[in-house]
Amino acid sequence: MSDNRPLRVAVIGSGPAGIYASDALMKSGKDVSIDLYEKMAAPFGLIRYGVAPDHPRIKGIIKALHKVLDKPQIRLLGNINVGEDITLEDLKKHYDAVIYATGATDDRDLNIPGGEHTFGAGKFVGFYDANPHFDEAWNVDSESIAVIGVGNVGLDIARVLAKTADELLVTEIPDNVYESLKTNKAKEVHVFGRRGPAQAKFTPLELKELNHSDTIEVIVNPEDIDYDEGSEAARHNSKITDQVCTILENYAV
Ligand SMILES: Cc1cc2nc3c(=O)[nH]c(=O)nc-3n(C[C@H](O)[C@H](O)[C@H](O)COP(=O)(O)OP(=O)(O)OC[C@H]3O[C@@H](n4cnc5c(N)ncnc54)[C@H](O)[C@@H]3O)c2cc1C
Repeated sequence: MSDNRPLRVAVIGSGPAGIYASDALMKSGKDVSIDLYEKMAAPFGLIRYGVAPDHPRIKGIIKALHKVLDKPQIRLLGNINVGEDITLEDLKKHYDAVIYATGATDDRDLNIPGGEHTFGAGKFVGFYDANPHFDEAWNVDSESIAVIGVGNVGLDIARVLAKTADELLVTEIPDNVYESLKTNKAKEVHVFGRRGPAQAKFTPLELKELNHSDTIEVIVNPEDIDYDEGSEAARHNSKITDQVCTILENYAV
């Protein structure tokens, strides 16, 4: 690199990681020029295409990310899939450094036998968040649905399935998602976790949100409220874990 030009950096992926990495570079005191490559037409990664539409507070971090994109040292190049539209070799010719911040967008196969009628969460999330690479319609024609996994995504899916399409109208879901969800026939949503209440990965707020309307009954089986020594310790060491356990106990009662 010559002394009289800025350090040229290509950042691949404009999700939070790519944008915060760019921000850190700009704050490093070095003279930098950053090109942010994004395969989608719109930036912000899973904040835009993953966080549930009825969680506007979390989507609100887009405002902070936007401020970084407004800086003159950074240029967003959308609709470019690095690896397909341009190679790493090409990039290396033009940049001093390349940063990969491409996230984890693909569902991981659980390899459970009898996989028909099972779907990775990403497919449903991509649909309701209007990701153009996913189906525009989703026919939820089952009355009873199992959600495997007790993280925030599991609860997002359970909550969206339990809501009526009209309840989601206050969000920014597009017409095709609304029309599809209007035909949702789900009456029971069963959420499965492989361990106990103290190991659940959702937040107390997300858990309380399940009980969002009079049409919903949240049922926790009392026999599932069970703590071994490790669970007691986890509860003791984390206020959030303790709150989750208490809310689950209240649902069970
Ligand atoms: C359903 C769901 C709900 C979530 N809810 C929450 C929540 O409520 N609160 C919370 O804190 N976190 C939540 N998360 C997690 C949060 O969204 C992620 O931790 C965060 O977005 C990860 O940031 P990232 O930049 O690493 O990846 P991503 O956000 O995935 O961004 C990666 C970017 O790289 C782009 N890209 C990938 N490959 C290429 C390529 N070859 N060329 C160009 N561009 C490429 C992608 O299009 C994408 O824009 C949720 C995640 C999911 C899936």
